[in-house]
Amino acid sequence: MNAEIIAVGSEMLTPSRVDTNSLWLTDQLNAMGVEVAQKAVVGDHRGRLAGAIREALGRSELVILSGGLGPTEDDLTREAVADATGRVLALNDTVLEAIATRFARLGRTMAEINKRQAYILAGAEVLPNPRGTAPGQWLELPEGRVVLLLPGPPGELKPLFENEALPRLRRLVPPLAIATLEFRVAGMPESDLDQLISPVYRRYENPVTTVLAKPGDIQVIFRARCATREEAERLVREMGDQVRPLLGDRVYSENGDPLEKVIGEMLLARAATLVVAESCTGGLLGARLTEVAGSSAWFRGGRIVYSMDEKRALIGDFTEDPVSEAVARRLAVCARERSGSTFALSITGVAGPDGGTEANPVGTVWIVLAGPGVVMARRFRFPGERARVRGFAVQNALEMLRRQMCEPVR
Ligand code: ATP
Repeated sequence: MNAEIIAVGSEMLTPSRVDTNSLWLTDQLNAMGVEVAQKAVVGDHRGRLAGAIREALGRSELVILSGGLGPTEDDLTREAVADATGRVLALNDTVLEAIATRFARLGRTMAEINKRQAYILAGAEVLPNPRGTAPGQWLELPEGRVVLLLPGPPGELKPLFENEALPRLRRLVPPLAIATLEFRVAGMPESDLDQLISPVYRRYENPVTTVLAKPGDIQVIFRARCATREEAERLVREMGDQVRPLLGDRVYSENGDPLEKVIGEMLLARAATLVVAESCTGGLLGARLTEVAGSSAWFRGGRIVYSMDEKRALIGDFTEDPVSEAVARRLAVCARERSGSTFALSITGVAGPDGGTEANPVGTVWIVLAGPGVVMARRFRFPGERARVRGFAVQNALEMLRRQMCEPVR
């Protein structure tokens, strides 16, 4: 079954409001095997909305509308669905009574305009909305088409969908089992990864492959939908077995765990600890590491050596460029010695937009890992603006440590 979602409301055409209902609905629909083929945001305009509904019904079996069920003149979803489907709207006494009772319970008298919310499309089932005044509506049309009207406030839409719409949808959609497998990959540009694995995943329509990229970090998600759980799991396993050897040790987790969590587990297994000295990342590395619950078992802390004075306080006087191998090395070595940690990571670079020189253009970052019998320095040149450079720096520092810990102990 294919679905379309139409979020109704002019406020969502302004820069200050976002349609989040459709994201939540998409997640719910995908989980039961319904694909969202298209979605739209339409302002409070009866003609435009009716047009959008008509078009959506021409393409898709399920059309979900969120919002525009309020009592005011600009709440036009009911009327637009009536226009698009040719169904009349009629006042439903039971709904009207329920609305009046709700007002009475809250110690208020129902305003005349609230009557609008008791108009129901001919043939539609009323979906009670205990958290609000406007009920939802479920309208089954010939040729297996369904229009679902839901209130806009997320606190009303979510329970109404779960309690009323889902059981009705389950009657129409054959049950599906879903299995997913997620590879997380570091140290590889998205385009290189795609070139490597797309010959495999392009051969499959099921599982579906999604590639999500952040600076220095890529998630590859395979999701299979089948009649049985065994079949879905077999399919993602089959895909994983083909992709795994192509990516090799660049895959750092297969269960969705982020790099900092994987590193924490590796440190813990070695009874090792980590300290950091950060300049251009200003604490981002420490923040990532401490996002992991229980990180105090392996992360000692560190310093934000942003200014020259703070660098000198850690490593003593120096005459070299602060973005240099020599300074980066001393930052890591001194941080390690002072704290007595097993490993230390230092980061010093030019995040931009200013401060670039011919020798060290914006994006230049030195990262050093100091550990037992090893001091490893790498110079990077990251692309993009400040936030991306800093994101890349943190990710690559973590990846240097992971790779070092993957090395066999000599
Ligand atoms: P009400 O009966 O409360 O008026 P309604 O169905 O008419 O409900 P709207 O008036 O369209 O809903 O929206 C009410 C509020 O719900 C909006 O101000 C907004 O905060 C929230 N809302 C509406 N649509 C969405 C959406 N698509 N995503 C997230 N929030 C939404």
